[in-house]
Amino acid sequence: MEVSGARKSNAPRSLVTGGAGFLGSHVCDRLIAEGHEVLCLDNLLTGSVKNIEHLIGNPRFQFVQADVADPAGLTSALGLGKAAPGPGSKPAGALDYILHLASPASPVDYARYPMETLRAGSEGTRQALELARACGSVFLVTSSSEVYGDPEISPQVESYWGHVNPIGPRSCYDEAKRFAEAVTMAYARQHGVAVRIARIFNTYGERMRVEDGRVLPNFLMQALRDQTLTVYGDGSQTRSFCYVSDMVEGLYRLLLSSEAGPVNLGNPEEVTILEVAKEVIELTGSRSQIIFQPLPTDDPRRRKPDIGKAVAQLHWRPVVSRREGIRRVIPYFENCARAANPARPS
Ligand code: NAD
Ligand code: UDP
Repeated sequence: MEVSGARKSNAPRSLVTGGAGFLGSHVCDRLIAEGHEVLCLDNLLTGSVKNIEHLIGNPRFQFVQADVADPAGLTSALGLGKAAPGPGSKPAGALDYILHLASPASPVDYARYPMETLRAGSEGTRQALELARACGSVFLVTSSSEVYGDPEISPQVESYWGHVNPIGPRSCYDEAKRFAEAVTMAYARQHGVAVRIARIFNTYGERMRVEDGRVLPNFLMQALRDQTLTVYGDGSQTRSFCYVSDMVEGLYRLLLSSEAGPVNLGNPEEVTILEVAKEVIELTGSRSQIIFQPLPTDDPRRRKPDIGKAVAQLHWRPVVSRREGIRRVIPYFENCARAANPARPS
């Protein structure tokens, strides 16, 4: 891949793939706040321009609608491969950082888009790595706790290789993330690309799509509408939920670190799904009841990150408790509920 894009200033220049998604848009905000020029690339499969509309018009922000797995689209959409820069601009083509977040992330989304999910994790990651190689960029990929599958050990530590069903309904996501990690390490070993691998555990916050099917958007919208909360299985499976501001801080520290191997990022506060349902009802003051529905195939029994590596290497640990994070995010979901049904009194 040949790269020769102009630069407007000496500010660090970053590409965020999946930047119009939930996490990606918060990452764009953080990079802008840190003084970066940000190129946000997204094909809007599961994201929305609404998530970044407050950044549009900022001279250090550019949105490009393109597919990360499409190499021609990638370079031309980013204005790379064009004429040399004018006087006062930085050397041609440099992207200091590439943060590759593009991928459906909710189980409901990746069940709807299995081919797109496999492609974003495989060819999308490879194309983003090619760009990092050509530009000499630091490359960060957002992997997932799903690389551990349905784990046989808890908490999950980075040295655990996982327990993944390679052909089940979640495999399009799990195996795409495992491939993404493998191709990232291959580019580091063979081409010397500076890489960072974030293994993200369940993260929630403002700008999640209310209908994305993940548990907190479901429970919060159900509770705010006084509808029944749908607990899958008997609710004894566990998760560990991280508030978005903590996750963005962890990702930023990882980006600036020199840690090439995978690092778990998440909140180790483990809770059963039934407890979360009760907590959401309590914190929203809802009159909702709980019903139990069938557990999806291969739904992991336990998820709790061992964050020892992040604490030691990044001096990072989450500071927002789950109860506090849920309190913070309620106004966002209340707004979403009102927007969907404006006639309803608040
Ligand atoms: P999201 O669905 O809100 O964001 C993903 C974004 O990627 C969307 O804007 C989507 O349109 C875009 N996208 C998908 N395929 C693309 C493609 N081929 N080209 C360009 N853009 C594409 O999900 P999210 O929760 O913000 O997740 C962001 C990243 O973090 C994903 O890589 C996900 O796997 C990872 N992650 C998230 C969580 C979490 O709990 N939120 C947990 C583990 C890993
Ligand atoms: N879940 C649930 N009710 C819902 C949505 C999800 O009980 O309405 C459960 C789901 O079966 C899983 C957990 O909540 O055990 C977390 O699901 P989510 O889809 O948020 O993400 P996952 O951690 O499975 O990737």
